[in-house]
Amino acid sequence: MGELLCGVDLGGTKLSAGLVTRAGKVLERSVAYDHRSKPEPDVIIQIRDMIRALLAKRGLTEESLIGIGMTFPGHLRFREGIAITSSNFRGWKREFPIRDSLQRHFRLRTIVDNDANAQGFAEFKFGAGVGTGSMLFMTISTGIGVGIILEGKIYRGMTGTAGEFGHTIVEPSSTIRCGCGNYGCLMAHASGLGLPQLVKQKLEAGLQTQLRFARPEDATGENNKTGLELNDELCRAVVEECADYAGIGLYNLFQVFNPPAIVLGGGLMNWGEAYFRRIKDKFYALAGDMLFDPIKIVRSAIGADAGLVGAAALLLE
Ligand SMILES: [Zn+2]
Repeated sequence: MGELLCGVDLGGTKLSAGLVTRAGKVLERSVAYDHRSKPEPDVIIQIRDMIRALLAKRGLTEESLIGIGMTFPGHLRFREGIAITSSNFRGWKREFPIRDSLQRHFRLRTIVDNDANAQGFAEFKFGAGVGTGSMLFMTISTGIGVGIILEGKIYRGMTGTAGEFGHTIVEPSSTIRCGCGNYGCLMAHASGLGLPQLVKQKLEAGLQTQLRFARPEDATGENNKTGLELNDELCRAVVEECADYAGIGLYNLFQVFNPPAIVLGGGLMNWGEAYFRRIKDKFYALAGDMLFDPIKIVRSAIGADAGLVGAAALLLE
């Protein structure tokens, strides 16, 4: 019986694999960026080889592992281990049996789940959600996803797509279109995906910017952060609007789940303390007298390794 966890974080830009202890410490890792253009069977072979190389580096065999936990950035049929579709891997065929394709190379228990569930569970086991019993994790980066942990278990819904909260509609008359085709999704208004359209609106409204991005299409979370540091009028307005929508998202989650804790993670949390505070302010303003007991709203405690540690943590559920 092995003692180590193997985590694989399959992202749209980065693929990482690592050996992780049962306490959530990453012992060994490897990272690749050339996987995105490959067909799905070749990505599986790449992951297999990364895992083998990690084991070899430590002089270990697969018998040292408890299993393999892996994330997939898209819709999954969780029980069957099937990747239905992902906006990150548009070339992949629908209904790809991702779990079994990897598992047949090892004699190990293998679990594949989406990144928000995995990262949320890592926060629950090792991070900001320790001791909460139940919690929600909302990740705000290019898109928005939610990991729902109820009484120690990840809640996945009927097939595995529960927590696709970024596609809840917060502005039905919006002109900002989401990747799903609908208008006014939370993630179109509060995550990286919607930034170009949001910047365009603000420029048309006459807001001033010192940033050198010539076209709104160039707007990213990263250059907005630069703008914040310069106290740029346009960037400040964009960040405030995103924070307000994220606060509406938190409020909606609160009304559905009455959770004791909500943990916020993802790349846009780099926008800093003022952004986080504004999200909370919006939440508390909306919740008002309907908040009967204290709720813990905190930032992710795991940080950069969240994907990898989350993937590994799936084996501990
Ligand atoms: Zn959508």
